[in-house]
Amino acid sequence: MRVIATVEELRTALSVTARAVSVAAREAVPAAARDAAPAAAREGRRGTGLVPTMGYLHDGHTSLVRRARQDCDLLVVSLFVNPTQFGPGEDFASYPRDLPRDLELLEREGVDVAFAPPPDGLYPPGADTVVRPGRVAEPLEGAHRPGHFEGVATVVTMLLSAVQPRVAYFGEKDWQQLQVVRRVVRDLLLPVEVVGLPVVREADGLALSSRNVRLSTEDRRHALCVPRAIEAAREAFAAGESDPAVLERAMARALAREPAVETDYAVVADAETLQPQLRATAASRALVAARVGGVRLIDNAPLAEASDTPAPGR
Ligand code: AMP
Repeated sequence: MRVIATVEELRTALSVTARAVSVAAREAVPAAARDAAPAAAREGRRGTGLVPTMGYLHDGHTSLVRRARQDCDLLVVSLFVNPTQFGPGEDFASYPRDLPRDLELLEREGVDVAFAPPPDGLYPPGADTVVRPGRVAEPLEGAHRPGHFEGVATVVTMLLSAVQPRVAYFGEKDWQQLQVVRRVVRDLLLPVEVVGLPVVREADGLALSSRNVRLSTEDRRHALCVPRAIEAAREAFAAGESDPAVLERAMARALAREPAVETDYAVVADAETLQPQLRATAASRALVAARVGGVRLIDNAPLAEASDTPAPGR
């Protein structure tokens, strides 16, 4: 695995490594299969995959890395705590970091390139351009963290531009972020496929997050009301309730059982636009953001599963 800290180094490494990988892959494909396959496959190219992260990796990140490793010839994982997506008074300084441990993990997972720029090493000096996502970025996280999605959209666009992957992988854990990224890619005609992958949870239902390490044992227990609130909405929906206000009351009740937990929002919304709906459907999303012991947690799930993804709170 190559560990790279600057965009210039990244560009050189990617062109050299991509050529090497493409030659190796081409040689591995028997001539007959090569001739019968579509152009990209014929050249043995499954392309470059990108997994953007802020580091302090856990099994949620690993699930993205493993899927990307299966799909792509050349796998780049970025590790960068992006200052522009943190507001004043948020936890940029205290965000957990452990680069040596992350690099060991990525090496074990067979990642080709770890792109880990230093804090001031990604944005060119004096950078003064931002990507401002539209309406999908306004409610929920957008309302509680002004400027957050502008920072996310800008850094993701920069990473896509620097790496030029065929596919980029994101977790459904940050559901609104995933919708924002999809929208930016669509609206700006960025030549990349966005893949979203399910939330990875602890056995007791808590969604994995780098920030969980900052929860005290007691707060870790209190935090379980977050997946329970989502489960309460899902249970009410399964019992026939489709009025979003009633579902949201069920969520609020579950959260109120833990007075140590302060709710930012607990809503049922359209999965793509994040807007309120008159009637909830199976695809509607239950989303929660709450704070406990100075740690902000977010979580979400569909009201009913299309697949057999494990449910929260189980
Ligand atoms: P982060 O390092 O928190 O910015 O996350 C990097 C990527 O990993 C994002 O696309 C997240 O949505 C995804 N991710 C974080 N936690 C989880 C989780 N528990 N399950 C699945 N994906 C996750």
